[in-house]
This record gives sequence, C-alpha cells and structure tokens, in this order.
Amino acid sequence: MKLDTSPIAAIATAPGRGGIGVVRASGKDLSPLVAALFPATKLAPRHATYLPFKDAAGTVIDEGLALYFKAPHSYTGEDVLELQGHGGPVVLRMLLARVLEAGRDAGLRLAEPGEFTRRAFLNDKLDLAQAEAVADLIDASTEAAAKSASQSLSGAFSKVVHELVEKTINLRMLVEATLDFPEEEIDFLEKSNARGQLKGIVDALEAVFRQAAQGALLREGLNVVLVGQPNVGKSSLLNALAGSDVAIVTPIAGTTRDKVSETIQVEGIPLNIVDTAGIRAIDDGIDVVERIGIERTWGEVGKADVILHLLDASMGPAKADEDIVAAFPAGVPVVRIWNKIDLSGHQPGVTPCADAVHIYLSAHDKIGIDLLRAELLRIAGWQQTGESLYLARERHLVALRQAREHLRYAADHAAQDDQSLDLFAEELRLAQDQLSSITGQFTPDDLLGVIFSRFCIGK
Ligand code: GDP
Ligand code: ZN
Repeated sequence: MKLDTSPIAAIATAPGRGGIGVVRASGKDLSPLVAALFPATKLAPRHATYLPFKDAAGTVIDEGLALYFKAPHSYTGEDVLELQGHGGPVVLRMLLARVLEAGRDAGLRLAEPGEFTRRAFLNDKLDLAQAEAVADLIDASTEAAAKSASQSLSGAFSKVVHELVEKTINLRMLVEATLDFPEEEIDFLEKSNARGQLKGIVDALEAVFRQAAQGALLREGLNVVLVGQPNVGKSSLLNALAGSDVAIVTPIAGTTRDKVSETIQVEGIPLNIVDTAGIRAIDDGIDVVERIGIERTWGEVGKADVILHLLDASMGPAKADEDIVAAFPAGVPVVRIWNKIDLSGHQPGVTPCADAVHIYLSAHDKIGIDLLRAELLRIAGWQQTGESLYLARERHLVALRQAREHLRYAADHAAQDDQSLDLFAEELRLAQDQLSSITGQFTPDDLLGVIFSRFCIGK
C-alpha cells in the first residue's frame, strides 16, 4: 500500500441491508468537503446534526445524521466525517458517490482496505497490536475470542509488551554504558545483577507468551478432519459435537457427497471441522474425476491439526480403513473413534495407544462425546489458567519466540568465562527489535502493507 495522505472515503458498514448505514471520510482538513456537502449548515464537531443529504443538483438522496470530528480527536487522528443514512446498498452507494464528487477537487478518493485503521496507527491513535485487534474483534467467531480481542484493543497486550521493551532497554543502557569503560567490564555483571535482571525479563516474557499462545488458539481454532467409511456415523458425530443438526444423517451409505465444513466451539475454542465423506486411498482403479476430488480431500487432511478416524465398533475396521491409515500424513495426530458402542457393548472410554488415542463412544446416544471434546482440547494445547488472554496472532508469537531466543543467547554470553559484553548488548538489542515489532515501533513498511490490506474497505 503506497503512503498517500490524500483524503479518503468509503462505506463503513457491512454490505447488505440494515437499519442504518455509514459513509465515512477522513483527511487532514475536511472543511472544504463539509462546506461543499452542507453549504447551509455549520457542523459543530462531535455533535450529531440531522440533515438532508443532497446531490449536486440539490435533490435529496437521504436524510440522516452527520457527525464531524476535528483532528486530532477522531478515530484516525485526522478530520473525520461520518454520514449515517439508511442502510440500503443503493442509497449508500449514491451517498458515497456524492461525497467523492464533493471532495474531488480536494483529491478525495476511495479508501483502500484497512486504510482508516492504518491512518489511526500512523497518527499514534492505536499501536499495531491494537490495530490488529480491531480486525480480530470484527472477525471474532466466539465470545471468548471477542473478549480477548477487546482486551488487546484496550491496550492490555501492548502494555505488557511495552513493559518488556522498557526492561530490555534499561538493561541495555546499563551494559552499553559499561562498554565505554573497559576496565569496569569485569565486575559489571556481578555489580549490576545483570543476570538477575535478564532472568526477570525472561520470566515475564514466558508469562506473556503463555497468555498470547492461549489467546491465539481462540483466534485460530483447531482444524479437524473427520474420515471414515460410509455409514460409520461421521455426520452423526459432527451433529453430536455441534449440538445441532448441521449435516444430513440418513441410513443410506454415501449420503454426504460434498465435504461439509462446520465451525463449532468447545470452551470458546473454534473447531473447524471438515467431514471428508468418501475419502479413500488413491489407487489405479479410480477415474480422473474421482481422483481429483479425492486428492483435494487428502490435501485437506494434510492441513489438519488433528484427524478423527471414525470406525464402527460393532463391525470393526474395513479393508479400506487399513489403506486410509497407511495414507495418513505423518505428524498429524490421529484420534481413532470407535462409534456405535450402544450396538457393540463396549464401555465409553479413552485408551492411549502408540498409533493413536482410541475413544469409544456413541454418536447416536451421545455417550462419550465429552471424552472426545476433552481430547480435542488437550491436542489444541488448551490450559485453563484463569489468566486473561491476549488474542494474539501468529506474527506476535513468532516475535515473542525470537525475542526469547535472543535473550537466551544473551544469557549464554553472560554465563561464559570469557564474558562478551558487546555480544550480550547486541542480543538485547535484537530481542528489543522483535518485541517492538509487535506494537509497530519497529515494523518494516512492507509488513504494514500486508497487515492492513487484510482489513475490509471502510475499516
Ligand atoms: P456417515 O455416513 O459416516 O456420515 O454416517 P451417518 O452419521 O450418516 O450415520 C449412518 C447411520 O448410522 C445412521 O442411521 C445413524 O443413525 C447411525 N448411527 C450413527 N451413529 C450411531 C451410533 O452411535 N449408534 C447407532 N446405533 N447408530 C448410529
Ligand atoms: Zn455423513
């Protein structure tokens, strides 16, 4: 995204029909735009003014509220104008066209995705982690995810990251001051308790990492694929896990032709479940069309965080199951589910084996489903710690991990007999850069482009 500071406008509400819809504009100085749109009225900043919205010829497009925020007291830190009209796609498009036309001389153009929030970031209204939390709050698929996103948006995550940065800077300053006086280097590590300070930073970072990693689970969820022969009860199990009828259950083999994807939640963690009906091992006996479908399904299995392999406990495995198991991608955990224990007479239970964890349950009678839920949470790495969680992104976890690495190297340099203070200081600097990239104090422009381009237009 090029850095272009010309005024921007976009429809800020979701597409479709709604009670109200909002067209938003932002720019360093929107007074010419406001004067062009409302020549007869003076808009008082931060007051809602009820007005007709007219086109250039004076014909009324809609009536609604105009809200005017003067820089820097606005979402973007620039002048912001919000026009709240009726939420119809046609009327909003007409209103947006009118705004663009009225601002054309001032260079007003359509906003790019995420550009409002990007400006808020560039004008120090939000740091980068908060800006990302705006998108994550909008996209949150569970209540727990939404709560953690607001936690990050309010700056709680940024605050703890910032504290880590401060502590790292303090230690660095101490070390670098000593570097200028080589004769004092020898005693420095003892006198300043540099090792103790470093340990304090590492411990604090571990805690932040834990909260962020758990929060990331709320955001990313777990990708689960369901495989098994026709009629073993895949759709029934999906329904039992979801607690509602999301897939068709019939006694005719092969009813579920297309893969059904459903997101359900267990303790607030989204589970993205794909029912890979009809998967089989690829052999020479299948025609091209079927082969393409099956290859696609195997692609799905390869991306999974866990494979649920369903079998009929009253019948035992089929030959096809052996072929499927042989084709499972290495490294993806497998839960082997023996369904229909109401028919087979097995007791519900969990048996960890070398090849997979085996779970005995009945999807139909909803017996043993909680055992499966618990196993899924365990695989996801979910721990109920009661700590508040930050809805972190993979990017944040990578930065925290790398900062941790650099702090470990720093500890190595402090521990060696031939202590190397300049290497110690250098590792601290690298750790600091990683931490600062989370809040955007130190973030390359191309990364900013990627982050903001994933927003919707109008955000
Ligand atoms: P899919 O083809 O693997 O998706 O299997 P379905 O979920 O469509 O189930 C096939 C048949 O098995 C249906 O008649 C289900 O009611 C039945 N079924 C599924 N789970 C159980 C179970 O736990 N016990 C019994 N007795 N029947 C089940
Ligand atoms: Zn099915």
